[in-house]
Amino acid sequence: MHSWELVTAVDGPGTRMTTFLAGCPLRCLYCHNPDTMSAARGVPVLADDLLARIRRYRGVFRATGGGITLSGGEVLQQPAFATRILRGARELGVHTAIDTSGFLGRQASDELLADVDLVLLDIKAGDDDTARRVTGRPLAPTLEFARRLETLGIETWVRFVLVPGLTDDDATVSRVADHAASLRQVTRVEVLPFHQMGREKWDEIGLPYALTDTPPPTPSQVDVVRDVFRARGLTVY
Ligand code: SF4
Repeated sequence: MHSWELVTAVDGPGTRMTTFLAGCPLRCLYCHNPDTMSAARGVPVLADDLLARIRRYRGVFRATGGGITLSGGEVLQQPAFATRILRGARELGVHTAIDTSGFLGRQASDELLADVDLVLLDIKAGDDDTARRVTGRPLAPTLEFARRLETLGIETWVRFVLVPGLTDDDATVSRVADHAASLRQVTRVEVLPFHQMGREKWDEIGLPYALTDTPPPTPSQVDVVRDVFRARGLTVY
């Protein structure tokens, strides 16, 4: 595990205990938690200890309609641990979410997914070339995982990071919107404006940061992109 925090109005409904797991197979140029990319930066945690912490916050989750969100890094890089936490949370009556790129979707067993109430699925690009440029990895595994979630009927929120000069061209936005609109289980889309808040972390861990000169999108640019999704009948934030 890398770290955890209590958050409200992000990472799912209500107040959430978001747990960041260490290790990720992607290398997103805009990653704002690059210190979670390497599993070596995590600390070992026993599932029972994390479940004991979840148990302590049950009242908060109940009062706010919240729950837990397993994030990263990449939660599906540690499917056995995730399976135990999700099962344990379910047994406690706690709402469960995972925040994932879906790249390792094949590592998610049906048993794991049976204990997931909500998937926050990051679709980082609409086509393979852009995906490889943004993340260093292909897009197909994400789309394949999205279809599986549709088959299983697991509620999904699609998240898309809008980065000027990288993911903001009309073709990319339209393709991501098409993918999202084609999935029946998607109840919400979040268009997340790129920001520079992760920049210092790249410096701290000594990795080259490619987006030094990239500005955040303007509010009107974000509105235009949100409207592209809305035009396909999607609920957008
Ligand atoms: S998937 Fe998330 S944690 Fe992994 S590199 Fe991309 S933004 Fe960072």
